[in-house]
Amino acid sequence: MPLAPRLPAPPETLAVLEESYERVLQRDPGEAEFHQAVHEVLESLGPVLAARPGLAAAKLVERVLEPERQIMFRVPWQDDDGEIHVNRGFRVEYNGALGPYKGGLRFHPTVNLGIVKFLGFEQIFKNALTGLGIGGGKGGSDFDPHGRSDEEVMRFCQSFMTELQRHVGEHTDVPAGDIGVGAREIGYLFGQYRRVTNRWEAGMLTGKGMLWGGSACRTEATGYGNVMFTAEMLRRRGEDLDGQQVTVSGSGNVAIYTIEKAQQLGANVITVSDSGGYVVDEKGIDLDLLKHVKEVDRGRVSDYADLRGASARFVSGGRVWDVPADIALPSATQNELDASAAALLVRNGVKAVAEGANMPTTPEAVRILQEADVAFGPGKAANAGGVAVSALEMRQNAARAAWSFSRVEEELSTIMTSIHDTCYETAERYGAAGDYVVGANIAGFERVADAMLAQGLI
Ligand code: GLU
Repeated sequence: MPLAPRLPAPPETLAVLEESYERVLQRDPGEAEFHQAVHEVLESLGPVLAARPGLAAAKLVERVLEPERQIMFRVPWQDDDGEIHVNRGFRVEYNGALGPYKGGLRFHPTVNLGIVKFLGFEQIFKNALTGLGIGGGKGGSDFDPHGRSDEEVMRFCQSFMTELQRHVGEHTDVPAGDIGVGAREIGYLFGQYRRVTNRWEAGMLTGKGMLWGGSACRTEATGYGNVMFTAEMLRRRGEDLDGQQVTVSGSGNVAIYTIEKAQQLGANVITVSDSGGYVVDEKGIDLDLLKHVKEVDRGRVSDYADLRGASARFVSGGRVWDVPADIALPSATQNELDASAAALLVRNGVKAVAEGANMPTTPEAVRILQEADVAFGPGKAANAGGVAVSALEMRQNAARAAWSFSRVEEELSTIMTSIHDTCYETAERYGAAGDYVVGANIAGFERVADAMLAQGLI
């Protein structure tokens, strides 16, 4: 797919971007999600390169596209029946110009190098937008924790960390959770790191438990942050969340705390989903019940519908975007909201869409939403709250301090407002007022590019 620049720029500038993209396609064939993430960023950068010829001369785009380091490793482990499994582990240390590499670990059968690179590439700009001094990285494995016992998950995590520990550390690379990696996995990973290195190095991993170096409000941060970002977008349009009908996809950590914050702000959240289908709950999602089903029973959203009674119905298969909403918050996984879903959301009068997941909206869907003047918050801005509170966790660890929930939540709110304003003002400065995609890409890129320029040919 050739680049379709979002903003006008001279042909020679666009040619630089086009060549960079072509090189990625040739050098990294078969990495569709990575290509998509690169495509989306490059489409925004024309005017920046035109205004600052030094960036092109220094081959900044070419350098940013190439990860600093890519690590792949074998993860052997034994299941409860004694059978041996061999998974593949990844850590892509993408860009460290602004701070230690920072980004989550994803355990999911779909994980491959292209997925980890797409996530790591997004993470560079997301982390830059937080302004908190963190570089970009991502990792994970094609291991599937679903249906595995706690003991199996522990053995897998121990094997994974036995290799990963030589590459990470509080000043080097700081992993955290993502899909399939929650409190349980972080505990096993931290325990193994401590055992192997004989170091109490709290800041080497974030999302830790509260008794052993975790931060208040880290669990809630991604979902809360996305709703805070949405509230800021609405505020610019003279609206708020009170009384709005909201659809949320997914039912993991991001979805649960998106629902919690949206409900606190007076919204009526009526859906959740998983790979089996979705639930519509006309009375509004009962969050205590959902938390119980997901976090205690490790169950499915269909179990929620069974337990909830008459107000909720489970739709097998199907997509949650068929349900009319004022605001849609995709919080499951990449490319879950496509062009036809976007067109239907628009027909049903959606006003705002903000990405709690990473790249859940396809490029065609983003265009449909923006052309219909729907406020669209891209993940690298809207879901930056999780990694932002991870950076606050690192700060507390460095000071051996523990801040209160309200202090962290207030800081999170300040950070999300600042990210929103940075994106808004950057887009405005480049003649694309209201386009948060352009604003996030340019603002994130400029911060990383300036740090790289200052540090010489790196
Ligand atoms: N996985 C989360 C993200 O996509 C959080 C990363 C972190 O806290 O380091 O941003």
